[in-house]
Amino acid sequence: MAEKKFSPMMQQYLDSKKEYPDALLFYRIGDFYEMFFEDAKKASEALDLVLTGKDCGGGERAPMCGIPYHAADSYIARLVSRGYKVAIAEQMEDPKLAKGLVKREVIRVVTPGTLTSESVLDERKNNFLMSIFYDGARFGVSTADISTGEFLCTDCGERGELLDEISRFSPREIVCNHSFMISGMEIEELRERFSLLVTELSDSVYQEENADRLLERHFHATLSGIGLSDRELEKLSAAGALSYIYETQKGSVSHIANIRRYQSSQFMILDSASQRNLELTETLREKKKRGSLLWVLDRTRTAMGARLLRRFLEQPLIDGGEIRRRQDAVEELCSHYIEREELSEYLNTIYDLERLLGRISYQSANPRDLLAFKQSLRLLPDIRQQISGFHSELIREIYEEMDELSDLYKLIDEALVEDPPLSARDGGLIREGYHEEADHYRLARKKGKEWLAELESYEREKTGIKSLRIRYNRIFGYCIEVSNSFKNLVPDYFIRKQTLTGAERYTTDRLEELQNEILGAEEKLNALEYGIFCQLRDRIAENIPRVQKSSREIALLDCMLSLSRVAAERGYVRPNINSEGRIRIREGRHPVVERLLREGMFVSNDTLLDKGEERISIITGPNMAGKSTYMRQVALIVLMASIGSFVPAEEADIAVCDRIFTRVGASDDLASGQSTFMVEMNEVANILRNASADSLLILDEIGRGTSTFDGLSIAWAVVEYLSQVVKAKTLFATHYHELTELEGRLPGVNNYCVAVSKHDEDIIFLRKIIPGGADQSYGIDVAGLAGVPSPVIERAKEISRELSDADILRRTHELPEPSLSSKEKGGEGEKEEREKEREKESPGEAEPRTFPGKEERGEEDGAGAKEALRCLASLDLNRMTPLDAINTLYELREKLSPER
Ligand code: ATP
Repeated sequence: MAEKKFSPMMQQYLDSKKEYPDALLFYRIGDFYEMFFEDAKKASEALDLVLTGKDCGGGERAPMCGIPYHAADSYIARLVSRGYKVAIAEQMEDPKLAKGLVKREVIRVVTPGTLTSESVLDERKNNFLMSIFYDGARFGVSTADISTGEFLCTDCGERGELLDEISRFSPREIVCNHSFMISGMEIEELRERFSLLVTELSDSVYQEENADRLLERHFHATLSGIGLSDRELEKLSAAGALSYIYETQKGSVSHIANIRRYQSSQFMILDSASQRNLELTETLREKKKRGSLLWVLDRTRTAMGARLLRRFLEQPLIDGGEIRRRQDAVEELCSHYIEREELSEYLNTIYDLERLLGRISYQSANPRDLLAFKQSLRLLPDIRQQISGFHSELIREIYEEMDELSDLYKLIDEALVEDPPLSARDGGLIREGYHEEADHYRLARKKGKEWLAELESYEREKTGIKSLRIRYNRIFGYCIEVSNSFKNLVPDYFIRKQTLTGAERYTTDRLEELQNEILGAEEKLNALEYGIFCQLRDRIAENIPRVQKSSREIALLDCMLSLSRVAAERGYVRPNINSEGRIRIREGRHPVVERLLREGMFVSNDTLLDKGEERISIITGPNMAGKSTYMRQVALIVLMASIGSFVPAEEADIAVCDRIFTRVGASDDLASGQSTFMVEMNEVANILRNASADSLLILDEIGRGTSTFDGLSIAWAVVEYLSQVVKAKTLFATHYHELTELEGRLPGVNNYCVAVSKHDEDIIFLRKIIPGGADQSYGIDVAGLAGVPSPVIERAKEISRELSDADILRRTHELPEPSLSSKEKGGEGEKEEREKEREKESPGEAEPRTFPGKEERGEEDGAGAKEALRCLASLDLNRMTPLDAINTLYELREKLSPER
């Protein structure tokens, strides 16, 4: 393209495009935004637009497509949601007045992480941009929501921690330095897994002096004032975020008024798998809020409160004192029904102050935005008044910190009319009496209109034209309209202006004179009103930190109200928070399943886990009995307690947990090319490596995705490791009933099962967790309930009978002794010792218990059984595939019953 001779306009386009190579360039021509070349092809495909062509000089035609400017928002939203960036080049001068080529400039670049348009954003969710700086060893991470002005930073030591951080914020876009791009982090996987855009920024952004200067200039403070003087990683990541924000917004971003440093160790760590599995903010399958914990807990009235509550769930606390502060607030609100209801009503009137502030700061707020802003401030004094008598520390703090902002309310109230128009440029927005000059023009306009009325009756009388009217038209201005039937009475001083079907339009010297006066006044008035409006907007922008402080307090109050409302309505109790590692729940319920079932249908259950004798619960029971529900219920109750919420139980004593891990059902992670089993094992590996004695583990059916022998062996070894090395509180659901043998053999392991009763052919799920192991799985019965055709069910029952007659598993499977003595061991040295001990043992020698074979039961055909046993002992399970296992099983059965 470089050598070709393009038309001047096309050259101007190409020059702009060169500066934004990774964005689609929307190029304003008249009432359209046009795209050319590759951009046009991409946009026409993404937006389903017709691709045309434009002569671009030198006989060349450029592919082209366009969209009307007034509909741009929705098109941009669609492109951005598909991961594109859009650069908007506007006409910077009036084409009618421009000499030569109209000047154009890119005024904004819209990207997924820097969206501000209210029509595109979900008001109950943040829209985060994350900036990562990697120095070869650690990561600096800054996260900003430019629609609300929040800006946070931290540092992460390793890849896993960083992934947790990404998962916690779910940013729409990541910007980073070059080292991060080549850090070994699978960028493609990140893009796919979190569906986000990753952009590498230029090295100059991260140069020390540039970064320092940018931060100091933006925050009007020194680095130590900002709190980043000795925080290199955070500083550089923050500079990356800010420079990208400036680059895309092109205007003021003063509402990003400060940056808050945090440490992820301040919060309970929830890795991304656990966040998903526990369905905290959306359901696993449908990705809907309904059916998630947030759906139950979110009764907030403001967008700010809704976003904060979501953040509570993503960042549960680990500081008992802080949790109790929230609990005190929830409790006090629970006991003040009237105040709670009134406060909720007041909060209903509050708009999204944070995002309004964003628009005020970008100078894109319109008169209706200012009206919404004013209305939101109106009841702040009443809200403060309502909580003035509260005693809990947190609510006292909200009371103290909340600025009533009456001065800003007054400012807008005095200036802005009650019902302003959407546009600030067409007048009609400033109150009469507010500004002397504006009043003067208004008077002139009013007077002019009176004179018009006088002129109309004067001319009607003088000419005798009864239908004579003075009318106004945007293009032709004021004119005298005469219907055709009176045309013959029109005097000579009427000058014809326009012909209509049934009438003619005229003007006169006097009418022209009046028109100039009226329109002149109107034009001046509109311009003046616009100026007053802009000043008003700027005055508010000067107060951004004050308004942000009040919005934070509103959000916090809203969250506390929401939690107290749910607690009161659903009969939750305040849990005691302990630091002794005890989780004791009486009559606990699953908050979501309980809500989905009919009143009173949920069966409550008790839980006891501690750091001593009750560390690991092995939970067995039929399919569909309620094992998963029970385990998630415990995790959710612990999590709710950690955000300061009350919990669905009769009584609860909850330990502060450093992490909750879950391994609940895996699905193929096709995007990363991993099988179900591989995903499952990845998650298990992550848990075993990172869990501590203060963690809570929810493990559902470990080892299900492979052959029975491998699966059981893995599950067995995992329980041993947890009991002896990790020592975390664990709920472990399994269909391997063999694991119930571990009770009494391993420290802290106990059996529980879900009770069922069977009447004739029907199984009844009692949903009660009771001590002891389950006797069978009822898998075939459940398959029948699920509608598997009866011939299959009957055949399955037959096979099951045959298998249990042959009793292969039982006769041949030796349960190994726990690999450590029952005296608890831990640490690497002991692990090695254990491994050595194991190596010494041959598989056949570990025999704490062997299920009796046929011979021992006094039956015949001992030779076949012995052969089968020998064969089994010689198997190398680690090298067997599931298919090998099933084939071997058949062979073993052959050996035992050759007549079959
Ligand atoms: P599987 O072993 O097949 O995974 P499961 O034992 O984990 O099954 P869940 O999935 O927990 O069973 O529960 C099955 C259904 O039973 C749930 O969808 C829920 O509707 C209902 N259920 C579970 N627990 C209870 C309870 N305590 N009270 C009432 N209904 C319950």
